[in-house]
Amino acid sequence: MNYHSNSPQLPSEPRQLGFYVDGQVRDRGDRDVLTRLSPAHDVAVSETVLCTKNDVGEAVAAARKTFESGAWSRWSGAERATVLLRAAAGIRANLDELAYWETLETGKPISQSRAEIEGAAGHYDYAAGVARSLHGDSFNNLGDDMFGVVTRQPIGVIGLIIPWNFPFIILAERIPYMLAAGCVIVCKPSELTSTTTLRMAEILSEAGMPAGVFNVVTGMGPEVGQAITEHDDIDMLSFTGSVDVGRKALMASAGNFKKLGLELGGKNPQVVFADADLADAADGVVFGLCFNAGQCCVSGSRLVVEKSIAKEFAALVADKMKRVRMGDVFDPETQLGAIVSPQHFEKILGYIESGKQDGANVACGGGAAETERGHFVLPTLLTDVERSMAVARDEIFGPVLAMQTFETFEEAIEIANDSIFGLAASIWTKDLDKAIRAMRRVEAGRTWVNTTIAGGPELPIGGFKQSGNGRETGVYGVEEYTEVKSVHIALGKRDHWVK
Ligand code: NAD
Repeated sequence: MNYHSNSPQLPSEPRQLGFYVDGQVRDRGDRDVLTRLSPAHDVAVSETVLCTKNDVGEAVAAARKTFESGAWSRWSGAERATVLLRAAAGIRANLDELAYWETLETGKPISQSRAEIEGAAGHYDYAAGVARSLHGDSFNNLGDDMFGVVTRQPIGVIGLIIPWNFPFIILAERIPYMLAAGCVIVCKPSELTSTTTLRMAEILSEAGMPAGVFNVVTGMGPEVGQAITEHDDIDMLSFTGSVDVGRKALMASAGNFKKLGLELGGKNPQVVFADADLADAADGVVFGLCFNAGQCCVSGSRLVVEKSIAKEFAALVADKMKRVRMGDVFDPETQLGAIVSPQHFEKILGYIESGKQDGANVACGGGAAETERGHFVLPTLLTDVERSMAVARDEIFGPVLAMQTFETFEEAIEIANDSIFGLAASIWTKDLDKAIRAMRRVEAGRTWVNTTIAGGPELPIGGFKQSGNGRETGVYGVEEYTEVKSVHIALGKRDHWVK
């Protein structure tokens, strides 16, 4: 298969996936499979094994045995870094194939898949550096007879649950950081998008990762995901997905009080002040909405714009929206891809209808794009939106922008923070004081000034409020996966308590 062609063939028959435990690909056996249709083509492209609770148990046992053996967990940072750097090279060597499968299973444009795979390799490079530089602390001020040390050690076996919207890059924002800390992993990708996670297991193995360090069990959330969250031999759960399932994961993980990292949803404000560069802001707002067809946790889906420029700004946004290139996801020029599933497509259209019924005005788009195959939604701008409307409050997860207006700085902040979520926010202004004051006041784990959805390995990601807890990536992202141990070391002869 020529994966790099501008019009690569679709698979003639679905790719048969296995699952991955203790360094071995396991076959389907008599388990059921889920057939995945490419969202952009409606063609069967892969068959994912529906693993069982028993399979989860075997994967956790393999991970635990490996962790206790010290293979990986007691390796030096330099040894771990060597494997992570080789994994980064392995990702780059397989970029064409990985991007092809990412586009087939998610429906995203190929240029975006390629950028995400390249970005993923950068996370492995970066985490290799942290594996070598991770350190604790020392206390040389405890008096002549005492010395104090704080060390970090790997937390142990991690359950890792991943959504479908960015299967490979979300994996890369988690795995190398967990591995840099010395942890071992049992991972469940989304049942819709398992192929690139399984390929990553092979790439890690080829890079020299010992068997049992990275295990993948595929299948459905209520069976496989639930079994991971409940498992008493898992020390920490890293869950990325919706608020509703995140809450279930929180409850289910209570059995052994495992540590939880939750990366959940968002309803992220784009706050545009009248003194912004309006052309730049309009472009950023449209990018922030249409990136991944709005199926993005940090999608800038609420436009909070100063009233004096609202009409002019809405026209700029609508003009840009109409010029976003939709269509063949394998065309490198395409910017907006397909919606992940027919069910999700209907949900997005339902939200547009509810906005209309609640009194919002459709200033652009407003429905499905007419295509021969697949499910695509037109970039949609809803104006005259009130705070109480569902389109202003719920995470729609599609290219639907709800516009509200403000008259004062305080009102802008109040509207921006009027959400159960606190994942991300963007602020557009040329006034530095205003930008910094707004940045300080918005309740969001990721805040952008005069840009949006920018990122990389160095800065941490995560949310306030119901967008979750914990942080991924950056040095923080490795520290999350460690236990902190305090050590007091007495010097000299003990002053006896019992004389
Ligand atoms: P989802 O919550 O439906 O599923 C996420 C994962 O959880 C999937 O692998 C699914 O199979 C699994 N799952 C389902 N039921 C489960 C259960 N009972 N126990 C354990 N696991 C279970 O989310 P989705 O539809 O795949 O993804 C979209 C959501 O993810 C959005 O809300 C989005 O905002 C969020 N998200 C957040 C971030 C972030 O970093 N904050 C990133 C990407 C996506």
